[in-house]
Parts: sequence; C-alpha cells; structure tokens
Amino acid sequence: IDTEQFRSLGYKVVDFIADYYKGLEEGRHPVKPNIKPGFLNGQLPKSPPEKPEPWANIFEDFKSKLMPGVLHWQSPSFYGYFPANSSYPSMLADWLGSASNMIGFSWAAGPVSTELEMLMMDWLGQLLGLPSKFLYSSGHQQRGSAPCSPGSPCTHSQGVPKSIRPQPVDVHKCNAVQGTSSEAVLVALLAARARTLRGRPKSDALNLVAYSSDQAHSAFKKACMIVGINHVRVLPTRAEDDYALQPSVLQAAIEEDIASGLLPCYLCATIGTTSSCAVDPVGDLARVGRAAATGPVWSHVDAAYAGSAAVCPEQRAMHFQGLEELDSYSFNPHKWMLTNFDCCAMWTADATGNALDLKDLQIPLGRRFRSLKLLFVMRCYGAERLRAYIRHHCALAAWFADKMQEDSRFELAAPQRFGLVCFRLAGMPNEVNKALLDALNARGDMFLIHTELNGKYTIRLAVGSTGTQLRHVQHVWVVVQEEASKLLAAQ
Ligand code: PLP
Repeated sequence: IDTEQFRSLGYKVVDFIADYYKGLEEGRHPVKPNIKPGFLNGQLPKSPPEKPEPWANIFEDFKSKLMPGVLHWQSPSFYGYFPANSSYPSMLADWLGSASNMIGFSWAAGPVSTELEMLMMDWLGQLLGLPSKFLYSSGHQQRGSAPCSPGSPCTHSQGVPKSIRPQPVDVHKCNAVQGTSSEAVLVALLAARARTLRGRPKSDALNLVAYSSDQAHSAFKKACMIVGINHVRVLPTRAEDDYALQPSVLQAAIEEDIASGLLPCYLCATIGTTSSCAVDPVGDLARVGRAAATGPVWSHVDAAYAGSAAVCPEQRAMHFQGLEELDSYSFNPHKWMLTNFDCCAMWTADATGNALDLKDLQIPLGRRFRSLKLLFVMRCYGAERLRAYIRHHCALAAWFADKMQEDSRFELAAPQRFGLVCFRLAGMPNEVNKALLDALNARGDMFLIHTELNGKYTIRLAVGSTGTQLRHVQHVWVVVQEEASKLLAAQ
C-alpha cells in the first residue's frame, strides 16, 4: 500500500467505522455475537500467505469473517463487565499516535509524548480534584531538604525524567500513563517492596506481607505472584458493611503478622470493586497501614472503573475521601472517561526509587503516545461535559435501581453506586437467577454478566456505554420483568 492508496483506503475505513457506529446506535448489531467457540476454524488459511494479497480481499474477510466474532462493547445496550467507552476524539488521537509510532521510553525517544504525558497527568489530577501532593505542578520538596521553588530549576537528583531536568517539575512524583490497572497494582507493589526492604537484609523479602480485601480485583493476587510475595492476606468483608474492608480488620491482620515475625508491606484498597462497586474507607485504611510497628505500609488505591466519577464534586464528597493519605492511586480513563483502551493513569506521591525516565515507572520499556487521547478527550468535552456524562450514567443506574425496589420480586444485592446495579430475584435460588441472566443474554439485544455476592448469584447491570440513553435502560427493565414473570410462573 503506497501513500496515495493509503489515503483512499483510509477514507473507506473511516466510512466503515462511521457506519458501524451508526449501526450500533440504531441497534442493527446484536450486542452478543451468535457464534460458538471455534467459529473462526476454517475461515482463514492455517498458514500465512507467501505472496502479497490485495487489500480488497483482506478488508472483505475482515467484514465477513471477523466482524461476526465481535462482542459489541460500544453498543448502547452493552451492560457487561465494566464499560470500555470510546469516543471519536480519542480514536482520532489513537490514529495520530499510531501514525508517529514513537516508542517514547525517554524524553529523547519521545520528547512530545513525555512532556505531554506529564502535563496530562496534572490536567487529569486537577479534573478529579486529586490532592495536590500528587501533582507535578504543586511544587515539591525532597525529604529533609528545602523546597524547590516553582519556576526555578530543580536540582534534586531522583525522579522522572532525567532528560528534562532541570525543569520546574516535581521529580519525586512518578505520575504516568500505564496500560492497565493490573500494571499499576503491580508497579505499586514493586515500589512498596523496595521501600519496605530499604536498609533491611535481603532475606526479609521472604517475610513481606501484602493485603487486600476479598473484593479486590484478581490483579492484586496476580501482582503478588509475579513479585513473589510469600504472604498474601485477602481480608474478609461483610454484606453488612456493603463489602468494604474495615480498618479494624486490617489492623488486626497487621498486628497478627508482626507478632509472627512478618513484615507488612503493601495494601491494595479499592474504590469501586468489580463485583459490587464497594468503596473501601481508603483514608482510614492508609492511616492504619502507616502506623504499623515495623514501618509504613504502602497504600495503593485501585479505582479502575469508579475513578472517572471523581470529575463530579458530589461523587468526590461521597466516595473519594482520604486520598491525601495514599502513596499511590490509579484509575482507567479507558473504562468510563471516553478514552479508548488502553489508558490507566497512575499517580505516586513520593517516588522512593531511582526512576530516571517514564520507562522506569512501568514494566515494558516501550510506551505508546497515550497522553494524546487524554488531551483530545479533555479538550473536546471539557470538564463540564465529562461531568454531565458521568451524571447521566449514574442517573440511569439509579432509575433502574428504583424500579427494582418498587417491585417486590426483585432485590438489590448491594447498594447502587456509580453506574452499577447488582440485582437478583428475591429469595430465589441461584439457578433461577442464572436462568434469568441466560434469558436476557439469549435475546442478543443486550449483554449483562453476573457476579457472586455472599454466595448468591447476582446479575450486574453496568451502565456506561457512550450512547446509552434512558430508552435503552427502560427496555432492559421491560424485558427483565417479562423474563422474570415467565421464570416465576414456571417455578
Ligand atoms: N481493578 C478493578 C477494580 C477492576 O474492575 C478491573 C477490571 O474491571 C481491573 C482492576 C483490571 O483492569 P485492567 O484491565 O485495566 O487491568
């Protein structure tokens, strides 16, 4: 494909995408593909071609053979998992970022991606009302030294990125765009491990303990496995506490572990758990961790989905208190902030290691130009529209939860929070609730998933697709009632 062919094929691809999105809006694609595992077998050759193939054939196969295997996450009737919304500004930014294909691991390798990323992390931090200790622009002070004055060169030696020192930026903060929350949870654990082991014998590594609640994402356990943490404490939560981790439970675990000669190291708390959007009391938990007799426990908060809600001051007041107590914080604009996958923003208040460039804050060396998506999204929507967008989804979820509460056949399995509603047929066994979910998904015009709360099969309605409107959620409510009536009559 030469440049002129690219120009004309590119227009066709844009047309295809625009038609696809229009089709999603108009409900022309079933959300869930009607296929079985192995659907691709025999559709494409088993080996790569020896000779170049014409673009027209490749694109045709994409449309006819691959598109049928797409689960339409961007459908307004997609309520599964958590949303991964997209937007046109974000897609355009991704294309432009791909065009340069800069691998911006250092300033020299990606001058604009490095500098824009640092600025975007500050924009985003301000948009969410994060404590100023997380912002590059807030001025800074190395422990035990005089503060650097904003606007004058920083002479401190640690931090990021080496290549743009001296600059009036806080080199002790390690704020960067990661690919995913799982990476952020892992990176925070590595920082926690380094801080806890500083000045201690290497053999203490065997005694490190990491804590989370039983509602934390599996990314926590995965990170512990990767890092080789021997003692992983998954602490219990209770339905009565809305599945939030209680500080007294953490405190007791830490004390017990210290008494057994272990070394508490890392706490991964959550704002907006995957199952039910539980909100841990993160400030209190962090304070408990900091007071551990063996030294401070690193507190990381994973707000992968719910973090976007902090653009709204009312959500901040309800669910985002105590962030100033944390060592690090992350959320995914790629879930609920109109930013196409992948994009996880991570802030670290005080970098304890010797990070020199943005590559030192992550697992891979190479980095995509992800900050461009954030720039385009924040500029195209503005804080005002982003707030309206989040409020719209929260209101739709609240509407659905109200309907559930007005109908005695249903119960909410957890308080409705953010865009999530967790519901079930009240008093019905798990199999009946599973049958309800199967009936909803079998229709093809909506997609939901389930979770288990307190041993009970629970259906999740996660409202958050870019185009979801009241009429879509009303439709789900009508269908849920119809299917429930059929199931209950058959009981
Ligand atoms: N943490 C929470 C609370 C989540 O809900 C999820 C995914 O839904 C993750 C982490 C994992 O996200 P990622 O795919 O960005 O690693």
